Amino acid sequence: MRKACDTMQSEKIYLPDPVSNAATTSFLRCPVCHEQMTHLAQAYLCPNGHNFTIAKQGYVNVLLAHQRKSKQPGDSKEMVSSRAHFLDQGYYQPLSEQVNEEILACLTANEQTGHETVVDVGCGEGYCLARLQEAFASHSLLGRRSAHFVGLDISKTAIRRATRRSRHITWVVASVASLPLMDASCSMILSVFAPINIAEFMRVLEPRGKLLLATPGPSHLYELREVLYEDVVEHSQADFLEHASTSFEVVRSERVLFDVQMENATDIMSLYHMTPFFWKSSSQAHARVEQLEVLKTHADVYVRTLQKVEAHKEQ
Ligand SMILES: [Zn+2]
Repeated sequence: MRKACDTMQSEKIYLPDPVSNAATTSFLRCPVCHEQMTHLAQAYLCPNGHNFTIAKQGYVNVLLAHQRKSKQPGDSKEMVSSRAHFLDQGYYQPLSEQVNEEILACLTANEQTGHETVVDVGCGEGYCLARLQEAFASHSLLGRRSAHFVGLDISKTAIRRATRRSRHITWVVASVASLPLMDASCSMILSVFAPINIAEFMRVLEPRGKLLLATPGPSHLYELREVLYEDVVEHSQADFLEHASTSFEVVRSERVLFDVQMENATDIMSLYHMTPFFWKSSSQAHARVEQLEVLKTHADVYVRTLQKVEAHKEQ
C-alpha cells in the first residue's frame, strides 16, 4: 500500500511503508545523538530536535557532514547509471535469485514471526533489495507477515535511483561506519559486494540475527580481468571470515557460478564501470575494454549466511 499527500509544489510525495500520517516510532536512530527517531509524515525527528526531511522522491538523508569524505561520497551518477543499465539486462539475476532463496529460507525458519526488518547495507541502486521485497511480498507464507525493508547507501545518487525501483522500501542515505539503526532492531542484514562493518552489524542485529554476505569468488569475472591485466590474481577470501569468526558463525555457504555473456560494447562498458577494476586499470587496459564488442565471462560469488554469535556476558 502506498499513500500520497500533496506538497507545496503540488507534486506527490510518497512515503515509505508502513505509511501513516500519524507519528510512529521508527527503528531509525538519530545520527547525531543516537536517540530513537519518530517517523512523521514528511520527516524523522529525534527527542532532541534533530530533524531529517523525507525528500520528495521518498528517501531520507541522515549522512552528517563529517561522515562525508567528499562532496558526493559513494558511487557517482555515471557509475549508478552503468550499474542500473547492466543489472536491468538481467545479467546478475541468478545471483539475485540465490540471495532471495537464502533470505526467504532464513525468514521462513525464523520463529520470531512478529515482525521482520531486513536491511541491505550498501544497497546501491536497489536492484537486489527491490527484487527481494517483491519475492517476499508474493511468497505464499511470508507475504502475510509484517516486514520492513530498508536500503542504505552512502551515495545519494544511488539512493535516488533506488526510489524508482520500489516505494515499499525505506531508502536511506547513510554510512556503514555508523548505521542509523537502533540496537538489535534488524532480523537480517544483506551485504552484496558492499563494505562490511562487523561491529555495527553485530550492534543492529537482533539476537541470533543473520547476515547474508555475497562476495566475489576466486574466478569472478576472470575473462574480463584477463583483458585488463597480464597476470590475473585470484580473489582472496580469508580476510573477512577470519575477522568475523568471534562475532558470526557461518551456517550456510554456497558458491554461485554462472555465465555472463555480453554482445555489445554498452553492456561490456557498463559492467566494467561498476567494478573496482575501472579505477585500478591503466589507460591501455581501458582502451582494450573499449574495443570489445563481445565478452563471454562468468560470475563466481560466495553467498554465505552467517548467524550472530551471542556474547557470553550478563545483560
Ligand atoms: Zn538527535
